[in-house]
Amino acid sequence: MRFDIITIFPEYFTPLSASLLGKARDRGLLSFGVHDLRDWAYDRHRTVDDTPYGGGPGMVMKPEPWGQALDDVLTPRSRLVVPTPSGRPFTQRVAGELAASDHLVFACGRYEGIDSRVMAHYSSVVEVDELSIGDYVLAGGEVAVLVMIEAVSRLVPGVLGNAESVSDDSFAPGRMEHLVEGPVYTKPPQWRGLAVPDVLKSGHHGRIARWRRDEALRRTAARRPELLERVELDSHDRRLLES
Ligand code: SAM
Repeated sequence: MRFDIITIFPEYFTPLSASLLGKARDRGLLSFGVHDLRDWAYDRHRTVDDTPYGGGPGMVMKPEPWGQALDDVLTPRSRLVVPTPSGRPFTQRVAGELAASDHLVFACGRYEGIDSRVMAHYSSVVEVDELSIGDYVLAGGEVAVLVMIEAVSRLVPGVLGNAESVSDDSFAPGRMEHLVEGPVYTKPPQWRGLAVPDVLKSGHHGRIARWRRDEALRRTAARRPELLERVELDSHDRRLLES
């Protein structure tokens, strides 16, 4: 899978060569291109922003450098991702949709964002997703793009060692959709007076799976109660949550 990123701060993307993503790149599963938007600016000062129409504070990214850059980087099979706080929420399900693509191109906004005509124009050329990573405002799209690339990459077949772990994760479509994962433990069995639950040491797969689902339900009810409305609860689940 190929990721191309267009940004005015290419240095933000050095982490792509570290850890899981770096290993997946070395194994040929992922490839990354990081491009400086200013290479497509056309004046001596390599300007990429201008004052907003209608007035107000801040600057807006000019459409012309974006148009030149995207014309060069996009192919007919690409999907264009534009991070923005006003986008559709980026969720595990959306990460799965993006992981099915061969080529993602990310356009990192700065200042007050990118002139809207850029998204309007490319919507008739390729699939365009304007996505938000949460209800807060970052200084630029770079960190949001790192978040999305990491979430998408772990869903690309072969990137994670153990494919099982993806379907057991919080929010994974299927059994875990709309649920957060419960607590996890490793050795030693006792630490500072705190014990690992006996069931996890029992070797009984059915009971362990039941315990994990119960803990996911309890934790979701405590920390993300709004999600539970979307979970299909059976009579066991209902009794558990009422107790
Ligand atoms: N004026 C914009 C607004 O209120 O929606 C905020 C612009 S923000 C300072 C600059 C850039 O950061 C955005 O164009 C976007 O690329 C990125 N950004 C900020 N918050 C984000 C979020 N929650 N999700 C995705 N991208 C975000």
